[in-house]
Amino acid sequence: MQTVYQYYSQGQWKSSESGETIAIVSPYLKTSIGSVQALTQDEVNQCIQSAKAAQPDWSLMSIYDRAHYLHAWADELLKMKEELATIMMKEVGKAYQDAIKEVERTADLIHYTVEEAIHLSGESLNGEHFPGGSRSKLAVIERVPLGVVLAISPFNYPVNLAAAKLAPALITGNTVIFKPATQGSISGTKMIEALAKTNLPAGVLNLVTGKGSVIGDYLIEHDDIALVTFTGGTSTGERIAQKAKMIPLVMELGGKDPAIICEDANLELAAKQIVSGAYSYSGQRCTAIKRVLVHRSVADELVSLIQSEVEKLSVGSPEDNATIVPLIDEQSADFVQGLIDDALEKGATLVLGNKREENLIYPTLLDHVTKEMRIAWEEPFGPVLPIIRVDSQEEAIEIANASEYGLQASVFTQNLDKALTIARKLETGSIQINGRTERGPDHLPFIGIKKSGLGIQGVRRSIESMTREKVIILNINEK
Ligand code: NAP
Repeated sequence: MQTVYQYYSQGQWKSSESGETIAIVSPYLKTSIGSVQALTQDEVNQCIQSAKAAQPDWSLMSIYDRAHYLHAWADELLKMKEELATIMMKEVGKAYQDAIKEVERTADLIHYTVEEAIHLSGESLNGEHFPGGSRSKLAVIERVPLGVVLAISPFNYPVNLAAAKLAPALITGNTVIFKPATQGSISGTKMIEALAKTNLPAGVLNLVTGKGSVIGDYLIEHDDIALVTFTGGTSTGERIAQKAKMIPLVMELGGKDPAIICEDANLELAAKQIVSGAYSYSGQRCTAIKRVLVHRSVADELVSLIQSEVEKLSVGSPEDNATIVPLIDEQSADFVQGLIDDALEKGATLVLGNKREENLIYPTLLDHVTKEMRIAWEEPFGPVLPIIRVDSQEEAIEIANASEYGLQASVFTQNLDKALTIARKLETGSIQINGRTERGPDHLPFIGIKKSGLGIQGVRRSIESMTREKVIILNINEK
């Protein structure tokens, strides 16, 4: 008998009155591993009302009391690490060891977030510091919660990217509506089982399951949502931005991260970093390296080094910790195949790959990619890497910046002045010098610009984004 998972609201596990459930099919087992509730709008509204009702008391509780629940949550997650990793592996096809690491990283993230929030302090401003002002005015500035936070997470890091939203929202006194990606919602449900074990007050966290295409607009447009924190594809993010009312949005969206390889780069280092950056978890990472812009004079050598590294990659099942695993679904594999076909039709050279078994795409390396090919610009979210040969540093920067995305970039050179010069010209949220693009450690600011996002993540910045400043001005009558 397969488990039918329930949703969580008002401190209780419930089944939808619609009687409808969504079967979750494993991307590699190709069988259902359980099902989740498909909530009705009415039930979504009840969840939001429950979060709204719980928020004042939760925010009035001392931060140390809130911290107690969150630390206990992290401890519960670690206790169920193997169970949660197994579910994540089956549900999103992530290698088991990577899933274990994701749970451990998440527990660390929750503890760190709690400690960071505890140590945040406010500010005071004395009126006399402005021309004509007087010290009779003293402003006290504190950070206060926003209200009910809507957290929407993607499939690829179903535990870590969910906790990166939930922990800062909860510790600062917000209550939360958590809508996991449908493919990822069993992992999300198990996380909330761990949180529920801490006896969190009813209504503080509400887990809403159902297709984004069905309940997404209702959630986003709801009057009682005070902030949307979203990670997912750019087209979904754009839709959310159009639908949202006048509330703050924090968005982590798609990317097309370039690796720029200068003539003087350590090519062996670059090749290793590029391959791990581009192909881990079959390239299903927002910060995967998604194009290589290499100086023509070192291109042949780099391609040959990358080829040797790619040949070492293991292909197969997440249960065997393979690096290249089946993509999340057939449709995603069709999309990646379309990008490969387009590039080959337009004259790209196939160095390796272009082999497919259902939704398993073998690691594919394309050389001599040009600006006319879709793969030069579109995000594959799969194990395919285009090499674009350039004649100068300026050309690399121009192609890098011509992308609609602006998440991260890597620059490989042994000349620090050159690295910084290029980094300063790149239109991305962050730049890695001599390393692969990646998120984390989780306390670093994480920023997507252009179509890669809005706002800033990273522990302290996330805490700030989920609170607002409130100013209380004391008018002192000095005697
Ligand atoms: P997605 O299809 O955009 O889905 C993301 C989330 O949005 C899911 O929970 C989805 O629910 C929900 N959703 C769908 N339609 C919605 C609507 N109309 N209103 C509200 N929510 C809606 O993205 P994905 O395939 O899960 O993730 C892959 C993408 O995420 C890639 O583009 C990747 O680059 C990006 N990503 C970015 C970052 C970053 O930090 N920048 C990190 C990870 C991933 P359903 O699952 O029910 O449809």
